[in-house]
Parts: sequence; C-alpha cells; structure tokens
Amino acid sequence: MAASLVFRLHDRGPELVREVLLERGWEEYNEGEREEEDWNLYWRGSLFQTSQYHNLLPWQRLNHHPKTVGITRKDCLARNLRRMKATFGSALYDFSPTTFILPNDYTCFLAEYNRLRLARGTSVYWIVKPVDLSRGRGIFIFEDIKDLVYDCSVVIQRYISSSLLISGYKFDLRIYVCVKSFHPLTVYIHQEGLVRFATEKFNLSSLHNLYAHLTNTSINKFGPFYKTEKGRVGRGCKWTMSKFRHFLHSQQINELLLWQRINNIVTLTLLAIATSVPSCPNCVELFGFDILIDAKFKPWLLEVNYSPALTLDCQADISVKKKLVSDVIDMMNYTSTDSLRDRAYRKHRYKQPCFKANHPSAPVLSTLNHQKKKRGNKGSHTQILPLLKTSHQPEKTKRGKLKQRDLEESEEAFTRPAASWKLPNIYRYCKFAKWNGQNIPPVKVGDFIRTFPFNRATLKASQHELDIRTVLQEIQSLTGQLVSGKGHKMKSRREEKVTADKDADTDFDSLLWGPKDPPLISQCFKST
Ligand code: ADP
Repeated sequence: MAASLVFRLHDRGPELVREVLLERGWEEYNEGEREEEDWNLYWRGSLFQTSQYHNLLPWQRLNHHPKTVGITRKDCLARNLRRMKATFGSALYDFSPTTFILPNDYTCFLAEYNRLRLARGTSVYWIVKPVDLSRGRGIFIFEDIKDLVYDCSVVIQRYISSSLLISGYKFDLRIYVCVKSFHPLTVYIHQEGLVRFATEKFNLSSLHNLYAHLTNTSINKFGPFYKTEKGRVGRGCKWTMSKFRHFLHSQQINELLLWQRINNIVTLTLLAIATSVPSCPNCVELFGFDILIDAKFKPWLLEVNYSPALTLDCQADISVKKKLVSDVIDMMNYTSTDSLRDRAYRKHRYKQPCFKANHPSAPVLSTLNHQKKKRGNKGSHTQILPLLKTSHQPEKTKRGKLKQRDLEESEEAFTRPAASWKLPNIYRYCKFAKWNGQNIPPVKVGDFIRTFPFNRATLKASQHELDIRTVLQEIQSLTGQLVSGKGHKMKSRREEKVTADKDADTDFDSLLWGPKDPPLISQCFKST
C-alpha cells in the first residue's frame, strides 16, 4: 500500500487546512503514534522557533519563512517602508499612507499634524492601530488631536478619507500572496481573493461608527446590517475578486494599470525584507495583503497579514479559500520521495537539514532524475507512488531505520504509476525551463500567477545577491509602459539587449496578475 504524506497542525487548526489535506489523502500527525520527525508539513498560525528551522529535514515543509515579521507587524512594516523610501526614493514607495510609530515618533507626528492643519483647507483624519493587534481590535479614527488617547505602542496613519465606494460602502481587497522562496525571490499572487465591505454607509461625520469605517469581517459580521441587502453590495460583507472584476469593467479606467500597481505594491513590500530573511528552501508562506483603493483608483497598502484567516464565514470564503489552500499545498512541491520520509532519504544519503541551503530544488531534482532512470525516461508526467504506508510500516530496527530488504522494496515503489491520490509537482506545469543554469519558476501554479521574477532582467537581478535597484528600474519601466499605453515601443535598453537574444520571449514570459484570463506581459504591451 502507498505511504501517505503526513501533516501537523498547531493547536488543531485551521480546520480548512485539515479538510483539504484529508481530501487529498494525507494523514494527520499523532504524537503518540509517530516519531518526532515523521511528518511532511507543519502548519501553524504563529511563529516557529528558530530551532524548528534549523532541524528541518528534506521531506518537511513549514508554512512560514523565518523573520517575516518585518512586514507583518504594523510598526516594523512602517519602519521598513520608510527605510526603502529613504534609500530608493518615493517615486515607487508612495503606496503607504504616512505613518508614525507612537510614542517614539510623537514629536514628528505633531509637526505633521500642525503642518497639515495650517496648509489645507479641508479636514485631515488619522487612524490609530495597536502595533501587534489584528482584526480591527483597538482601532479608532480621529480628526482633532484632543481625541488621541493611547496606552500601548500604536501606529498612527493618515486616514484615506476618499476611498472608492460601491453603493456608498467602503471596501478593501484581500490579496493572497505566496512567497515560494526569498532566495531567489519568487512570488505568486492568487487570481482569487476577497473584497471586504463595511456594512454601514461611509460617513465622515460619524468617525466612531466602526461598521462604516472598518472593513474587517470579524467586526462587520456582528453589525446590525450584516444580513441586510445593501444596494449593489448585497447581503453579508464579502465579494470574490471575480465579482469585483465585473464591477471594474463597468468603470472607465485603465484596469491593467490598477492591477499592475497592486502587483508593484506586493513586490516592493517584499523587497523591503527579502535580503534579511534567511534562506529556507522548504518554507512556503501565504500572506494576506490588504489594499484600499481610493476614489482616483490609486491602491494603498494598509497592512500585511501573517496568517490570513482561513475560516469559512460565507459563500465567498468557500469559493476562494478552499482552492487557495489546495494551491498553496501544490506550491510546496511534494514528491513521492517525501512520503517515504526518513526511509527514502537514508537510502539517498541525503540527511542534512534544509535551513540556509541555497538550492531549494536539490532533493526534488535528484529524486526526479532517479525516477527518470527507473522509468527509462518515458512518460515524464506519470505520477508515482511509494510502496509503504506509514501505518503499516515494515519492520524497523530503531528510530525509523529500515532493514535492507525494506529499502529495496521502497526503491521498487518509485516505479509504480499513481492511482488514487493527487501528488503535486509544480515543475510539471513547465518544460523545466532554465536560464543561465537556473530553474525558471512556473508561470502558474493552480490559480497562483508568478509575479516575480517577471522578466529576464528581474530573474537575473534576483539570482545571487538581490539587485534591488535593477528590480526597481524594471518595475518603473513596466508601469511606465502601462501608464503611457505605448508599451511595445518603449522597451528599456536593458530589455532590448536581452531580447537581442534569439529566443528571448519563448522561454521566459509572465502573466499579468489581476485581469480575468491574465494576458502574457509581452502580448499585453503589443496590444496597448
Ligand atoms: P487590522 O490588523 O486590525 O485588521 P488594518 O490595518 O487592516 O488592521 O485596519 C483595519 C481596517 O481599517 C482596514 O481593513 C480598513 O478598512 C481600515 N483602515 C486601516 N487603515 C486605514 C487607512 N489608512 N485609511 C482608511 N482605512 C483604513
């Protein structure tokens, strides 16, 4: 019988992850029955300890990269974006509302508050958020400084008072971003996402009404109008991103530019921590980016969520999150060898922990080569199943060591065609495209679209030491083409040099995340 992959959930949740994995034929880790290392995925909502990264084994994956708090805590995000702005200029880093961290920045805040009060004829509003809370807890909005009261560390941010409204209701976008790797930086954004509405009409004369000013579901689902029909918004407080795309079509705007600006926000935010996150090839992380769009269709970054909620509150959640979790698991790129855990890797003498190893695909590729040989290089898409099921383990010596006979059996198992269970291998989606000896990550994994690297120049810039300046130039050039609508005529010099190479666009292209049926970036410029 085939071995199953095994998952561990911290504190027994989230339930959706359990459901998706069980449906895929995984087994849940049980401490009493299994050895300490006998699992493939450890999923938790909070931080892993450093030792858990250091002890990670080749068949194991974690759902967080180390040290991503630099963007997921409100004060750290503010500090990092401020540093990027100071280093690289505000032309690109203009997507975050002016933010101060209190109490430290109180004097600076006061200066800005007074400056704006004197300079502007119209009112300026501020929003205050505790640095380490989520789900709208402890948040309030004020106009007059006499209403500013706080007893813990908070961020105070310019309140976007001219947000785009639908039927008079405020909303923001929850964008799901999966970082496959920080070294090299490899980023995907899910085509589906959520639009989260406030449940009372936006009104600046009632700043205390959180149901009108905050879009958190955790708040609005308790609002008096949650279940009421609310104009175009309907009942509840959520839309899927697909529904939002329909809405956008009815607006006279440069839709591609809006999507690209959101893409930029994601990449530019991740660049702020990309060089400080240690390499851990066996980690894949899902972030929730909250984006607010203002009345001029400019997107703003509100925050980045560390463990975006995977609870199912309504139909929109069900249609988005189940597929999302399944696609994240695909991104983890398990192979049949992983299901053998200890046993297969002892055979291949691959036994060092994965932390800081700079070759994310090493164990996977060696396995694939091995599989190819056994199959005489035929049928590279055939999925294969291992022989052993963990619950019917062959005779062990101690701590998972197998006798020679068992190892031979498990080797035999590599040749079995898959029957019952879905074994993901993201590289089956591409033709093992390589450039300069580097694997080009697939354009798409499920409904995740690769957004970084997005061209050869950014692939090259992220290959060794991340060359942030080059990346920024490329982002600027791409966005410039969309703004001007003269894309194909405006190729950057760097890109011209690259396209001089004969098959430039045949083995490296990207999709533009956002629109329905996302176009290839190369085509999208030809048609503008
Ligand atoms: P939390 O982690 O508590 O959800 P957020 O930063 O996401 O904190 O803020 C909660 C909600 O408050 C957002 O979903 C949005 O509706 C609103 N909000 C936050 N910051 C701003 C801002 N600068 N301008 C306008 N609305 C904001």
